[in-house]
Amino acid sequence: MEEQIPKAEKAQLAAAATPQYSDETMKMLVQLMLGEQAEKIQAKQEAKARHLLTKEETRKMVAKFTADRAAAQARCNHTSEDNRFTLIRGQVHNDGMHHPICVRCLKEFPPRRPLGEEIETAVSS
Ligand SMILES: [Zn+2]
Repeated sequence: MEEQIPKAEKAQLAAAATPQYSDETMKMLVQLMLGEQAEKIQAKQEAKARHLLTKEETRKMVAKFTADRAAAQARCNHTSEDNRFTLIRGQVHNDGMHHPICVRCLKEFPPRRPLGEEIETAVSS
């Protein structure tokens, strides 16, 4: 069917189907497109900046938490207020070792072989 339309007529039909814009309109369209591109680029840059800021804030929070915990553990004597009882408790983990920890400052001490009744506190895995 398409092959039966003469070439000249085809060109006329194509020209009619193509919108004709004035130079003024074309300038405006180009400016709109450039504006949209600029907005997209700006949005990407802003998202990247926000991501970097969040990453830096998280790093600072973790550093502060780590420093605060280290300071609290350095201040703690791991005993009750009246200095009568140790605050170090622990459990036997599935590695068969007793893992001591201070219940106030959460300082973990090196694991050791369980003694006496500690053996019965073993956590089953
Ligand atoms: Zn402690």
